Amino acid sequence: TNAVTATELTKTYGTGDTRVSALRGVSLAVPSGQFLAIMGPSGSGKSTLLHCLAGLDRATSGQVRINDEELGGLRDGRLTRLRRDAVGFVFQSFNLLPTLSAAENILLPLRLAGRRPDREWLDRVIDLLGLADRMHHRPNQLSGGQQQRVAVARALITRPAVVFADEPTGNLDSRSGAEVLSLLRASVRELGQTVVMVTHDPKAASYADQVVFLADGVIVDRLTHPTPETVL
Ligand code: ADP
Ligand code: ADP
Repeated sequence: TNAVTATELTKTYGTGDTRVSALRGVSLAVPSGQFLAIMGPSGSGKSTLLHCLAGLDRATSGQVRINDEELGGLRDGRLTRLRRDAVGFVFQSFNLLPTLSAAENILLPLRLAGRRPDREWLDRVIDLLGLADRMHHRPNQLSGGQQQRVAVARALITRPAVVFADEPTGNLDSRSGAEVLSLLRASVRELGQTVVMVTHDPKAASYADQVVFLADGVIVDRLTHPTPETVL
């Protein structure tokens, strides 16, 4: 079964002379438990696609399904709940709350949703994260790579249908970036997580099971079982 599907997705910004077609008919499917990377040059529509897939933005036409729920048919309130319950996010800039400890940051999505932590899931996520001795540190006491790994754990904590990551290694050196990618990869392998990541880094994309290449709002190439060499 597919965790996410997009069918003939289009997205147009603006009207008249300022009209920009950011997506011009994009279809893709991410099987549950797989890792998809979206690549392409700047302005090709990667962020727009990620935002439409994640329900952060509504497509102009076409369909997005997360766990067989069609996002276009949902009212705003229902879409907000789906984002909260079924989707996890990792941003380029970590976005941890500075006054909270690592552990408090990780638990925050559950608190906001009024949910109790599932002890077993929590233990598995913390175990995978491998920062047990840093759980009471605040973000500014952690390295960039450690902060982003905490952000990945925070995205996983609600056991979402999909984790979306927008250039998660964009602000990191290659070693820290590799640690973040290994954690995302491990979440797929060990937890069966579904991950969708935007990146312009071929090495990052090589951690995925599947890569789609965007240019001018359309998919121009697809690759399965990428390696750093084949992605280039
Ligand atoms: P990428 O993430 O690959 O850099 P984007 O999805 O950010 O590409 O942008 C795709 C196209 O849509 C670009 O031409 C960009 O300028 C345009 N675009 C993106 N967001 C908006 C917006 N909010 N309003 C108008 N144009 C936008
Ligand atoms: P990225 O592609 O790394 O997310 P961008 O600088 O392309 O960063 O976009 C940052 C924000 O600005 C996004 O929310 C995007 O939708 C918006 N944006 C991008 N291009 C335009 C544009 N031409 N007009 C208005 N908003 C834009």
